[in-house]
Amino acid sequence: MDPSALDPTLASLWQRCLPPTWRVHDVRRGASGWRASCLDAQNASHDFAIARASGDGPSMARGEQLALSHRGAAAGNDAEQYRAIFAKLLAHETELLALLERLPPARRETRGDAPGGSSRDVVMAREHALALELASLRLAHGTLERAADAWARRRNASGEVMVYFETRCKQACEYCVEPTSRTSPTTRVLTVLRSGQDRIGLSLVRSGAWAALLAACERRGIDVTITGHDWLQHPDRDEILAQLEARPAVRKRILSPSTEFADEALATRVGRLHSLEVVSLSLQSCIPAVHDACTGAPGSGIAVQLAVANLQRAGIHVQLTMVLVRRALGTLEATLQWASVRGLAMTLVALTADRGHPAPEALQPSLAEIRDVLANLSIEARSGLEALKGVPLCAIPTGLGVPVLRSHVSPEREDVRFARACARCSLRPDCSGLTASYTRAWGEGELRPVA
Ligand code: SF4
Repeated sequence: MDPSALDPTLASLWQRCLPPTWRVHDVRRGASGWRASCLDAQNASHDFAIARASGDGPSMARGEQLALSHRGAAAGNDAEQYRAIFAKLLAHETELLALLERLPPARRETRGDAPGGSSRDVVMAREHALALELASLRLAHGTLERAADAWARRRNASGEVMVYFETRCKQACEYCVEPTSRTSPTTRVLTVLRSGQDRIGLSLVRSGAWAALLAACERRGIDVTITGHDWLQHPDRDEILAQLEARPAVRKRILSPSTEFADEALATRVGRLHSLEVVSLSLQSCIPAVHDACTGAPGSGIAVQLAVANLQRAGIHVQLTMVLVRRALGTLEATLQWASVRGLAMTLVALTADRGHPAPEALQPSLAEIRDVLANLSIEARSGLEALKGVPLCAIPTGLGVPVLRSHVSPEREDVRFARACARCSLRPDCSGLTASYTRAWGEGELRPVA
């Protein structure tokens, strides 16, 4: 982030509370409070979470209105230093809260999630195409460093770069097209081409392009999200992590099936990453056999629970997502309770199938089933529910009290449409509508247009 974009009064207050050699880098609104990152004399980033004191999340210091904590595991000396900073901040608590309240909404609302939002500031890049693009820019610009800057300019990257690693996933999730496309002639040819590209020195990671890209993101204040079929299976995983470790000021997000975090050493290593905002992983059910059936991977249900425990122990902010398929909906109450007792919250994502998925219709629950399950959630289960994404608004019982985000529209996903009945529905401007596979499976009979 450009520090000059930070409110000067807030920056000055924050700066007064830091050790003299530190500087405030960024303060912004997050999903459930605010986040601040500061850089020390060695340019290492220290990240803090600020929440309202009325919440019951963990904190290192608590005032009358605000609770402050460090994001990630803090070493002994660091913890003392953080407490000293927090004490100074809490001495100005009222002024601090007023300034935080003035910050604009969390950026999630400009990622195409929220009604009216746009996805302009997230640039997605696939591993092998990105490596080729950077290699060709290197020919024109002389070095990979300059090539990475030229790439960022060309792609108009300013907010977030999302890198999609194309390593094959061990799971075969029922809602994903990747497992069925693995054996298609096109995918086989692509796999051969990609491994050939890696062998001739044009691998994203081994060519040094990954390091150059992260350096460019650091210079330009661009956040980095890592995702992919399952990047944790990547043969160069160690180097991917080493380069993330080398860029403490880059704000990072990790999305993946994440069962590899069942390895405690790996979770601990990732927990030490500076400026790591979140690890997001999918949990289809807290009942291991149901989760395994959804992912087509025996043992993944136990592994994902171990991974969650390891990530939480490492002090990482964990986000859980669930794709709302019929099987998962059947154990939703228990799964939300499971999340809630661990201090976690889940986002439920309506199934918008990848194009080419052979039979998404069979996975779609009806709007009536969704409405019924959501209406009968216990209070404990509701507290494990963070948001709904892409769920038609008339499937959501009145008074559920959970944010509803729009579905992510992508040319790689099936079409989303409105039914004839939607034309007379007052909720339409904020509604995601119905996927083509839903309409094929259930028709339009369960819509409840609101006058
Ligand atoms: S009737 Fe149509 S527009 Fe209205 S909430 Fe339902 S799906 Fe959305």
